[in-house]
Amino acid sequence: LPLRVLGAGHSFSPLVVTGGVLVDLKTLGGEITVNPETGRVRVPGGTTLADLDEALDAAGRALPVLGDYDKQTIAGAVATATHGSSSTYGSLSSLVTAVRIATGTGEIVDIDEGDLRLLRAARVALGTLGVVLEVELRTVETFFLQEEAALENTGALVDAWGQNPSAARHFSFHWLPSADSADLLQLTLPGAEDGTGADVADGAAGADGSVGPEDSVAGRALVRRFREVPAVADADLVTTPNQRLDHAFRVFTGRRPKPFHEMEQFVPVQRSEEAFTALTELITTRFPEQQYPLEVRWVGTDDAYLSPTAGGERVALSIVVKPNSDYWDFLLAADQLLAGFDARPHWGKLHFLTRERVEQLYPAFDSFREVRRELDPDGVFLSDHTRALLG
Ligand SMILES: Cc1cc2nc3c(=O)[nH]c(=O)nc-3n(C[C@H](O)[C@H](O)[C@H](O)COP(=O)(O)OP(=O)(O)OC[C@H]3O[C@@H](n4cnc5c(N)ncnc54)[C@H](O)[C@@H]3O)c2cc1C
Repeated sequence: LPLRVLGAGHSFSPLVVTGGVLVDLKTLGGEITVNPETGRVRVPGGTTLADLDEALDAAGRALPVLGDYDKQTIAGAVATATHGSSSTYGSLSSLVTAVRIATGTGEIVDIDEGDLRLLRAARVALGTLGVVLEVELRTVETFFLQEEAALENTGALVDAWGQNPSAARHFSFHWLPSADSADLLQLTLPGAEDGTGADVADGAAGADGSVGPEDSVAGRALVRRFREVPAVADADLVTTPNQRLDHAFRVFTGRRPKPFHEMEQFVPVQRSEEAFTALTELITTRFPEQQYPLEVRWVGTDDAYLSPTAGGERVALSIVVKPNSDYWDFLLAADQLLAGFDARPHWGKLHFLTRERVEQLYPAFDSFREVRRELDPDGVFLSDHTRALLG
């Protein structure tokens, strides 16, 4: 029988759908251990990021970068190269130094830096190499972040495109096509934290910096910068949206948006400004009904064969849409536009990838396939979806 492993089920693509057996590791147990000499953590694959973050913090350690959500499992997050926003750090997969896998032949195999050929495959594998029982990751000393949010003119933001991400530990933004956009994802506008209304200067701006007529929010960007600060006493922690001051893992993952569906594509950093501007124009000219914010994040490079940031830093453009609405024409148009920028789609989000495109986008595809066939020669871990892409 074919077999797939369930993480937390938070992928938007049909990665865990199977006509065979679906394995849930939630109750498998096991301990999270930190090696005090190397600072590396070993964690059971079914552990949620939230539990891992708390355990690391108790040991004085932290993951150096995180996405904006923490309910995924570590094995699930690593399987799809889940990422945050940093030019310095890559995705969570880039932190992986070893994995223990039960392969398609029933063997338990330990893969570490002693065999980079296998590790580069295991770092992003969409669950096709076997059941990931344990993951080992690099960590850093626990650190604190101060959040600064601002509503900025998109034109000015585009002008400072290259400098922005290096000026803070974390830099990301949501471009807001309309005055209602922030509310669709439950984003608090600066100045609205105390309920007195958004603190917005006059003059809306399009992606080109032009001033729009209707109001002062549409066409602007809600920018987030997280700056590292010295350790903060519990009494001095701040939990107000947009101004948080807390342990890094809580600041990274603190948002709780309303439900959404999402497609996200990674474009080479060199062409990212152009791709962003083209995407905002697509929305304003052809799909003005699409009002959800567009999130923009920077992701450092790594060496996994199937990492969207293999071969160089990329910028992730995240297109969020209303769940169960008729969004396919829009997503297809955005996909076609971004294909012109050599964009690599996020494996765990909605996408239109075909085998041909995967082979063209990933120069190391054959190396991945070779390892996959070695560890799972009978294709036990392939589903219709993954066979079509990677089989
Ligand atoms: C609200 C929300 C916020 C998100 N935020 C971000 C973000 O900030 N950044 C980002 O990059 N992505 C983000 N995502 C996407 C998400 O991180 C990925 O889709 C991730 O893969 C989901 O992890 P999961 O544990 O739910 O895994 P699942 O979706 O359950 O599985 C993902 C893949 O991992 C495999 N897998 C899981 N566990 C194992 C195991 N033990 N052994 C072998 N294979 C396994 C599955 O078979 C599958 O192929 C978000 C998704 C949601 C719903």
